[in-house]
Amino acid sequence: MAKKEFKAESKRLLEMMVNSIYSQREIFLRELISNASDAIDKMYYRALTDDAIQFNQEDFYIRVHADKEARTITIEDTGIGMNEAELEKNLGTIAESGSLAFKKENEAENGHDIIGQFGVGFYSAFMVADRVVVDTKPAGSNEAYRWESDGVEGYTIEAGSKQETGTTITVYVKENEEEESYDEFLDESHLQSIVKKYSDFIRYPILMNTEVQ
Ligand code: ADP
Ligand code: MG
Repeated sequence: MAKKEFKAESKRLLEMMVNSIYSQREIFLRELISNASDAIDKMYYRALTDDAIQFNQEDFYIRVHADKEARTITIEDTGIGMNEAELEKNLGTIAESGSLAFKKENEAENGHDIIGQFGVGFYSAFMVADRVVVDTKPAGSNEAYRWESDGVEGYTIEAGSKQETGTTITVYVKENEEEESYDEFLDESHLQSIVKKYSDFIRYPILMNTEVQ
């Protein structure tokens, strides 16, 4: 399976993620949950125009789960999913994302403020991850795909095995470094507090093993 290289702009954004300051890292969860919510919105609109697709409120949710042993966080949604071309376009070149365009217009501004104020989308996962796997199955398709990257040089896309329509993002949390620990992100009650802080307005249920208060 061929490895595709990130575009130069994406690489710059990814570098910014790696060099992010500690206090900003938790916003990766806000970004991934916001994408999951957007994907469910898209499913909702698709259902309005496509008779083959039903939208039942109770089928739509976002599930967040941490596994301490595996050092993973998974964010699962029952949204619209992505086909191969969409994976390539949406996750291969985030250069077009609003925040980077903003950064270009405001070169004097430092990258740290940008992350805090505007978020940086999907790539923010690499603030806490050394590997991210995206398993996705687009609505109305029998095919599933897996996108995978270490956030440095490039990514791969291959056939996947996801059964249900939607997307599951698996964040492989970085090993602790001498002065930095990432363990808090594997603690579900901590994740729950991050969800409360940034994602309280999300319209779909965010399911976690620990009760969200
Ligand atoms: P933005 O959300 O501002 O468009 P992101 O970097 O957060 O930028 O995401 C890039 C794109 O990747 C999204 O616009 C969307 O098309 C796609 N995407 C990301 N996460 C998901 C998801 N969970 N389900 C479907 N598509 C997704
Ligand atoms: Mg987003």
